Amino acid sequence: MVLLRFAPSPTGFLHLGGLRTALYNYLYARKLGGKWILRVEDTDATRYVPGSVENIQESLNWAGLDYDYGPSKGGPHGPYFQSERLDLYRWYSKKLLDSGHAYRCFCSADTLASTRERLARTGSNETYDKACLHLTDEEVARRVKAGDKHVIRLNDSTMPDRPPGHDIVFGTWKENHGSLPTDPILLKSDLYPTYHLASVVDDHEMGITHVIRGEEWLPSLPLHLDLYACLSLPPPEFAHIPILLKADGTKMSKRSGDAQVIDYIKHGYEPGAILNWLVLAGWGAKHEKPSDAPVSSAPDHARAGAKLKSEDAFLPDSTSIMTLPEMIEKFDLHTLTHRRSILDQVKLKYLNRHHLLQRMSTPEGLDSIVAQLYAYVQETYPASEYATEEYVRKLIPTINVVTFEHFKESMPIFFIEPDLYTSEAQGMVGGMNNATYKAVLQKMISLIENPGLVWEHDQLEIEMRATGRDGPWTPKVIMTVMRHALTGVKAGPAVADIMHVLGRERTLRRLRKASE
Ligand code: GLU
Repeated sequence: MVLLRFAPSPTGFLHLGGLRTALYNYLYARKLGGKWILRVEDTDATRYVPGSVENIQESLNWAGLDYDYGPSKGGPHGPYFQSERLDLYRWYSKKLLDSGHAYRCFCSADTLASTRERLARTGSNETYDKACLHLTDEEVARRVKAGDKHVIRLNDSTMPDRPPGHDIVFGTWKENHGSLPTDPILLKSDLYPTYHLASVVDDHEMGITHVIRGEEWLPSLPLHLDLYACLSLPPPEFAHIPILLKADGTKMSKRSGDAQVIDYIKHGYEPGAILNWLVLAGWGAKHEKPSDAPVSSAPDHARAGAKLKSEDAFLPDSTSIMTLPEMIEKFDLHTLTHRRSILDQVKLKYLNRHHLLQRMSTPEGLDSIVAQLYAYVQETYPASEYATEEYVRKLIPTINVVTFEHFKESMPIFFIEPDLYTSEAQGMVGGMNNATYKAVLQKMISLIENPGLVWEHDQLEIEMRATGRDGPWTPKVIMTVMRHALTGVKAGPAVADIMHVLGRERTLRRLRKASE
């Protein structure tokens, strides 16, 4: 049975790259009927960010990526916090000391800094001169007994022969030990392990069969394989997944501010859309966006619907829109690309709209949206007589949504009387003379006052347009006047839809007010 792990460090909130790594681990485990673990790599107390473990768990939960074993779940491989596994790392360090693959180093930070400088001046790539390797056993024993602070280093001149490193995504790539420090530290002076030792020990101890992680760890793979060889342990299989880039070609990073999952939760994105977006980043050549595709900036919500259409040429085909079970079915670790993937916000908006519409298309999904929006409406317009579930249910289909946030942004026109004197409102009818404006309104008022007018979307649309066609004004002029008088904002649902939701009396009231 395959066993995978997602092993974030609690050094910040979960970012998109981390969520994609978790997703790929989840998909592979589910595809092969295996399990996956959440392991918290908290061995560097100086970089610990309070709340990050909770955030990682909440984000995975929001996304629907349920891990089998880990914090709050337990399981047979625990503990799942590395800080609770320190004895294990010390035991393995001792083993490496005993076999001569590691040694104790007592050099102070100052000594190390000046050694590094001296080595750099001579043009050497080495970062340490192995001075402590030459201490006698007696000297080492004396200093350990005296309680002298020290670290344990790997002796990289003792590495056993092993087969060349292989990666499922990158193949047999050229190993470069030059990017690694000389005799890397395995156990720090505070007796905490470094990432390398802890990761190798845990992957072995937990019985991990496949390590799927970010490309940034590929340079460390030779060191990890050396450690497995020194300990005579079989390494798991590795798949390093390519770095994610933002649309401007820069790397996503925890520090950039737009890369955290929580940002997308707050902006009302559908978890399914985020997963769909991430799964396609690195999925394989046929799903990639052409490299010469224009990089577009995120459209503003109000215009997103229109803008998306013009981007169609660069969007994934319909088979790329997937639910989580479909992703599991289609996922194949061996078709992942090592090309860096661009996370395009336009593509996300397209996917989000699709996933949201899909949710709305089922009775349970629609109920969940009604409940979510109704809660928002009650909180935002507590005094409104229209803050009812029935009214919310009626207005939902009129809104051309991209994200859930878009529902919220569309609420004011349905709950608050319009302000016709904002610069946006005035801009809408700025080029029109006042007499035309008033005449259109009068004509529409008398149309609506006619009790014979059927108060249904299609009928309203037909009647208003017919009036425009027969009279001196184009339908466009009529619709602009109506939108202005009813809402005071440029973008929003179709005018007839707004009227349908407002009802005849409220529509007339707003029109009469505007014509005063
Ligand atoms: N703790 C590492 C990180 O947060 C994970 C490395 C790994 O998966 O081996 O990026």
